[in-house]
Amino acid sequence: MNKPLVNLLGLNAQELGQLVQDLGWPRYRTHQILQWLYQHRVFDIDAMTNLSKIDRGRLHQVATVYRDEVLSRQMAQDGTEKFLWRLVDDLAVETVLIPEERRRTLCLSSQVGCTLDCGFCLTAQMGIKRNLRAPEIVGQVLNVQALLPEGDHITSMVFMGMGEPLMNFDAVADAIQRLTNMEWGLGFSPRRITVSTAGWIPRFPDVRRLGVNLAISLNGTTNAQRDHLMPAVNARYNLEALLQACRTYLEDSERPLTFEYVLIAGVNDSAEDANRLVSLLRGLRCKINLIPFNEFPGNPFRRPSPDGIEAFQQIVRNRGLDVFLRKSRGDDVLGACGQLGRSASEVLETLVHPRRSLPIERKMLDVI
Ligand code: SF4
Repeated sequence: MNKPLVNLLGLNAQELGQLVQDLGWPRYRTHQILQWLYQHRVFDIDAMTNLSKIDRGRLHQVATVYRDEVLSRQMAQDGTEKFLWRLVDDLAVETVLIPEERRRTLCLSSQVGCTLDCGFCLTAQMGIKRNLRAPEIVGQVLNVQALLPEGDHITSMVFMGMGEPLMNFDAVADAIQRLTNMEWGLGFSPRRITVSTAGWIPRFPDVRRLGVNLAISLNGTTNAQRDHLMPAVNARYNLEALLQACRTYLEDSERPLTFEYVLIAGVNDSAEDANRLVSLLRGLRCKINLIPFNEFPGNPFRRPSPDGIEAFQQIVRNRGLDVFLRKSRGDDVLGACGQLGRSASEVLETLVHPRRSLPIERKMLDVI
């Protein structure tokens, strides 16, 4: 039986080095192949033209470059674009591109579904299917970049798509290494990458070591509110533990924290909530992003009125904290914050036909 082809994007630098050694090639070839994959972003071994034709032929015999297929692209009226990818095992995951003047922010998914059960989030309704692997995370970046018009570039990335990134930390960290490596990777500054967590505090020190930004999805100013809105994570790490972890994080971090606060009418948007938010966060080096709740079918929560949102922001601002209102982007295609997951679950329910190329891709499951 033929050995399965190895997906080159599925290998980290050490594993690729081993493959190069097994082929009897000099060590510098590892670097060359990595550059082709991440800097030139080729998806074809034949395009690796500083490998001889014979060497490309040998590489073809043992390896391939596999990328996930785009199942759909939906453009919202504001230009936000939602991509749905079919993964190698027929699961599906979403990525959102948010254009803003000269910026192109990519919202990345880290899991198919999510273990946590935040009540304001559509992804939560899927449950967890599985963690994404590092190449599937980086693949979202490579694939979207390849689909952008000439001269258009992704400028920043946020791990705010499907899943809790800190519950899939090893893959997220591996992906970030490929995204930030200057010698052979995509060369993004870690400062342009934000990892957003519901409050999975054991991994905060690991995030600090990566040098990327950390955002905390707070959403409540009492344990009762967080128990209501984010029961799974608050049962493990309550508000006091979360804030203590934030203080410890800031002691050794040059980077300030961002607190995300989803404003939900009648749940966490009163003047009392705004004042309590200030009291909780005063003294922490941070900014606050207010995100008016993005409604979706079947969810009982409602977005506050524009006046209510404005009043909340004013209280926090007048008391001296940096607070910003995040515009809803892409909500008409369910691409806004908390709205990811519907298309992915629909795909899971409707994918019944085996793909034409299934045998090869099945083989690659082992190595991606
Ligand atoms: S908000 Fe984030 S952590 Fe919470 S259920 Fe949704 S994806 Fe998971």
